[in-house]
Amino acid sequence: MTYTAPPAADPPTVADLVAALDERYPPAWAEQWDRVGPVLGEPGQPVRRVLCVVDCVPETVAEARRRGADLIVAHHPLLLRGVSSVAPTTYKGRIVHDLIKADTALYVAHTNADVASPGVSDALAARLDLRDPRPLRPAAPGSPAAGEGRGAGRVGELPAPLRLAELAELAANRLPPTAWGVRAAGDPDRLIRTVAVCGGSGDSFLADATAAGADAYLTADLRHHPAGEHLAAGGPALLDAAHWATERPWLDELAAWLAGRFPVEVTVSDLDTDPWTLHAPSPPVPSPLKEHQP
Ligand SMILES: [Zn+2]
Repeated sequence: MTYTAPPAADPPTVADLVAALDERYPPAWAEQWDRVGPVLGEPGQPVRRVLCVVDCVPETVAEARRRGADLIVAHHPLLLRGVSSVAPTTYKGRIVHDLIKADTALYVAHTNADVASPGVSDALAARLDLRDPRPLRPAAPGSPAAGEGRGAGRVGELPAPLRLAELAELAANRLPPTAWGVRAAGDPDRLIRTVAVCGGSGDSFLADATAAGADAYLTADLRHHPAGEHLAAGGPALLDAAHWATERPWLDELAAWLAGRFPVEVTVSDLDTDPWTLHAPSPPVPSPLKEHQP
């Protein structure tokens, strides 16, 4: 999807967009371990086209080149851990070289965009039409991100109650399509009113979803043991979507905001960068898990 603003004779620069992005997603809001903000690119370089992506990988870098993007805004950091080389013979070094040679700047907004309001999980909550979305884990008082509506994940109410099976189908239809789809854990007939969501890997917020009184929790990258123990303890039903699909909705909100603020063309990449490319469902399972237990 592309968001356009009237072209300007005097286009903004990388530095102009970085300043605006830093103001909307202050780097101080990011987790300690995270690495956000400008990654590479000349500050004085003019920007006419922007590409928004979840992952800065060879495929999205090629898309940026095809579209003539002067700036990529990515969700996941390209360089999260310390590096001692960006030699083009390495995977990430190749990306760095390709970007610099194409004069394409790179900017990252990650956990600082997760806690922002509006942020990554607001866009996910909106896909399910959740009412009155509020933080699943509010930013701690006194922390840099503390403030009205800010924090990790969101929790809100469905416009009308749905069975878990219906909610899983709704999520599969409303989220960007992936091979992974949406899988759910819990009684398919459980009635769901309050839903917690968290874009990306959200299993560290399982207890928050229980504490928030959610009937179901939608996130990505859920694992066998934490999920099983959470359900055994009577926690909300779980919906596990593709990581990329839970974060991709935010890019539309980001792109519309950028195009409204600067005379630039902003495109959202629909390249599914989730690693999973195939999903072969088993033959129908005869009965829910509980009926198999002795
Ligand atoms: Zn993520």
